[in-house]
Amino acid sequence: MSALPRVAVLSYHTSPLAPPGGRESGGMNVYVREAAARLARAGVRADVFTRRTDPAQPAAQPLAPGVRLVHVGAGPPSRLGKEELHPWTAPFAAGVEAFARVEGLRYGLVHSHYWLAAEAGDMLARGWGVPHVAMFHTLAEAKLRARASACEPGVRREAERRLARAADRVVAATGHERRLLGRLCGVPPERVRVIPPGVDRGRFRPRPRRAARRALGLDPGARIVLAVGRLDPLKGLDVLIGALARMTQRERLQLIVVGGDDRAGDEIARLRAAAAAAGVSALVRFAGPVPHERLGPWYNAADVVAAPSFYESFGLAAVEAMASGVPVVASRVGGLAATVADGHTGYLVPRRCPGAFAAKLDLLLADPALRGTLGARGARAMERYGWPAVARGLRGLYAELLRERVRGAGGRAAQPPQPALAGA
Ligand code: UDP
Repeated sequence: MSALPRVAVLSYHTSPLAPPGGRESGGMNVYVREAAARLARAGVRADVFTRRTDPAQPAAQPLAPGVRLVHVGAGPPSRLGKEELHPWTAPFAAGVEAFARVEGLRYGLVHSHYWLAAEAGDMLARGWGVPHVAMFHTLAEAKLRARASACEPGVRREAERRLARAADRVVAATGHERRLLGRLCGVPPERVRVIPPGVDRGRFRPRPRRAARRALGLDPGARIVLAVGRLDPLKGLDVLIGALARMTQRERLQLIVVGGDDRAGDEIARLRAAAAAAGVSALVRFAGPVPHERLGPWYNAADVVAAPSFYESFGLAAVEAMASGVPVVASRVGGLAATVADGHTGYLVPRRCPGAFAAKLDLLLADPALRGTLGARGARAMERYGWPAVARGLRGLYAELLRERVRGAGGRAAQPPQPALAGA
């Protein structure tokens, strides 16, 4: 295994250390941290760059063995929403460049996450004359088409098309995302590499339900439907609340929602109002965010996990649930349609259909044997999603791009530094 040069990973709008479940931290944060850590174990050194959100943050700190997290000043050093962050992508790129210069480091490849980071990644890769790998995690156009979002800024849609086409490779979570990148952004299929995210199967594995409930102080006799994720209207929790009102298996029924942070108040209020209007307030509990390393028992305690999202580019929480041996009822959208095998590891239902969700939740809650069968199959099926496989896939992709660059075939020639970087 030949050594690869150091990689600059850009996670501009959110830090891999931000606890997942917050408004802007979820699957991508888990991905950046896990992928960088596993790549380092596979011999690929990386620095992960994120925007400084607190003046007290150190310039660099260890993220995992062989991986540093570097805080780069760009815009005010405070928490800002991602919709406010576009103006500082160029200063962020300049800050990454300055860090490399001061440290005397050369990065052989840039890997950026989300469109804002891809904007900075494109500038850096051009300036350094190195390959750029981009991952978008979601595409504005896909969210709009799924009616998962009422409006996405035009600048984002234009940038995603431009940056996806300019990147040397785009990493997609599923074949569906690869097709979307072709249809919506015009990226040729050979420039998209499908590498599904992973699940930590030590953390998420079948364990006895009773013990998990005891450990969490949950009612051993309750029927528990669990939802895990950011509290964002995109997650479709109002559909699930509508489903509760239609369910027949209501005795000792509980919907437990794990996720949210100190900025989730408005969304919780909206969902509580929906629950009150549907007459199911007593059935819904918001348990708050749970650190990823302590999340395993929550899945194990559930009878069913629901993923009613309007759109999901992959849907890590559903994969974690299945890896934990729990059946999933999910909307038939994006990545969920690729990971949940309908009738085999759970059920797929049309998105935004409370009645269809209610029917499948009732079916599973009424039948422990069915839950056991689907749960066991899910745990087996999820064996294919491991972080070591992600690291192998990324390492192979980096090596291929670097070889192409050396041969001068398909790579982008080194270009003069962009104005944003010059003089940084
Ligand atoms: N998550 C967590 N604690 C919480 C809520 C969510 O660790 O309180 C994690 C969850 O385990 C999953 C990720 O956040 O790994 C959410 O990823 P997913 O792909 O389901 O949704 P996204 O955030 O990407 O929309």
